[in-house]
Amino acid sequence: MSWEDLIRRRDGYEKLLDRVMSELPETVGKRGDRAIILNPILIHEARRTIITNFKDLAEKLNRDPRHLARFIFKESGKPGVLDNERLMIQGKLSNDELRRLLKLYVKEFVKCPLCGGFDTKIVAEKRLRFLVCEVCGAKNPVRKI
Ligand SMILES: [Zn+2]
Repeated sequence: MSWEDLIRRRDGYEKLLDRVMSELPETVGKRGDRAIILNPILIHEARRTIITNFKDLAEKLNRDPRHLARFIFKESGKPGVLDNERLMIQGKLSNDELRRLLKLYVKEFVKCPLCGGFDTKIVAEKRLRFLVCEVCGAKNPVRKI
């Protein structure tokens, strides 16, 4: 066996060890009577983190995956790319850190601050962005990301 084979074998083994999946689904809120459960699946490789069900997470929150991706890049300070269903992040983002970011995102860009509802949308008006609640009609400015 060559050195290259040995290194390849070792890398494969490390990848296996680093594979971390979150096992505890977490309810972040409700839309109507349905609970919104976010259960991110993370894979840690040597120099990057992959969220394999990223698009699904964004869809559960009824948000554009590109918007959620920009938020995560900005708040974590780590660059990355959106690749169909997956989000690839350079560097290591822990499961706890991701959950913390998802909660912050929900608080700022999904949950209505007035009634707590999740039936909301982000509306652009000129250069401004608003979180508009489809239940109570509240309209609150949000930052552009
Ligand atoms: Zn509301």
